Amino acid sequence: MSKKIPNASGHFGVFGGRFVPETLIAVLDQLTQEYFLAQKDKKFKEALNYYLRQYAGRQTPLYFAKNLSRYLGIKKIYLKREDLLHTGAHKINNTLGQVLIATRMGKKRLIAETGAGQHGVATATVAALFGLKCAIYMGAEDIQRQALNVWRMKLLGAEIISVKSGTRTLKDAMTEALRDWVTNVSTTHYVIGTAAGPHPYPKMVRDFQSVIGSEARKQILLQEKRLPDYLVACVGGGSNALGLFHPFFKDQSVKFIGVEAAGLGLVSGKHAASLVGGAPGVLHGSKSMILEDKFGQIKNAHSIAAGLDYPGVGPEHAYYQKIKRAIYVAISDKEAQEGFSLLSEIEGIIPALESAHAIAYLKKARRQLGKNSLVIVCLSGRGDKDLHEPR
Ligand SMILES: *Cc1c(COP(=O)(O)O)cnc(C)c1O
Repeated sequence: MSKKIPNASGHFGVFGGRFVPETLIAVLDQLTQEYFLAQKDKKFKEALNYYLRQYAGRQTPLYFAKNLSRYLGIKKIYLKREDLLHTGAHKINNTLGQVLIATRMGKKRLIAETGAGQHGVATATVAALFGLKCAIYMGAEDIQRQALNVWRMKLLGAEIISVKSGTRTLKDAMTEALRDWVTNVSTTHYVIGTAAGPHPYPKMVRDFQSVIGSEARKQILLQEKRLPDYLVACVGGGSNALGLFHPFFKDQSVKFIGVEAAGLGLVSGKHAASLVGGAPGVLHGSKSMILEDKFGQIKNAHSIAAGLDYPGVGPEHAYYQKIKRAIYVAISDKEAQEGFSLLSEIEGIIPALESAHAIAYLKKARRQLGKNSLVIVCLSGRGDKDLHEPR
């Protein structure tokens, strides 16, 4: 296990790498170098820890969900409470890290693309904090659907750029954001919101999110005097899951379970399960598992949880699936809604619909997980944003 993952060219086995226009190679190299230097810089680490603690609210509790454990007949379920962070989800761990890298490079402007608006809000938040300009690319369709987050981003001082090409959703916004970056590389940093994209993003985002698993590992050893049997997390692009999993990578007894969105069902074709129901391909600058039609066009993903609604997944997950380090399952919209209600009623915690996929999986698999298991679930975000969903 001493081999570095990813390797120097950003490959996780056959996955990852860089599939971008030639004009971006230099800036990706610069970013890789800067990130490498930052990791060795004590001042950088101190600054990041300061903002994670004082601004975002770390460390987050590892909460023993006693009622849920008893109800499901699983010995002990712990929730890693990323829902308690500023802006309501784990995404701030990554945007704080990236804004500090951007300022090191002297960049004055942040851009990002967003589907549901959660990553847009997390990016606009750190741009406000550090006094940077901020432009958020968003599909025209999504702007209609996510009015509250659009309003939040505007309050935070970001410019919202409506993307009217293609299907007017996330994948078109991604294309436009990359185009902006090509044009404005000298002033602009592109903040990718999940563990996907060209090297070094999958590694960098995973590292910034690994604070989740590093804390959880210490907390469980303190609270239970042993490692957990299972780690469970929802997978959109895969950053909260990798953040939880990665610090346990070498603990062979700890099993990883990633929960994708089955949407209206895998056979319906309306889902977002790139690992369970997709195929190898290239999207958003790297090779991974993706959803494409028989003509090689990227399909529109579907999930009731906007944050899981992405037609790809980070390359490290494709690698974990291939080497069988993690298993991946899919939970439908309907099951996720049941998980949403269950956690709200039984623990008084309203989870994000994304995180509710992980809760629903526990319910579905409670017998396989066994009554002697110690389980940690990443509660990636809170559900206030989802209260308008019909049920
Ligand atoms: C964005 C989001 C996700 C999905 O993103 P990952 O990169 O897969 O973690 C999950 N949960 C919440 C609350 C989100 O906002």
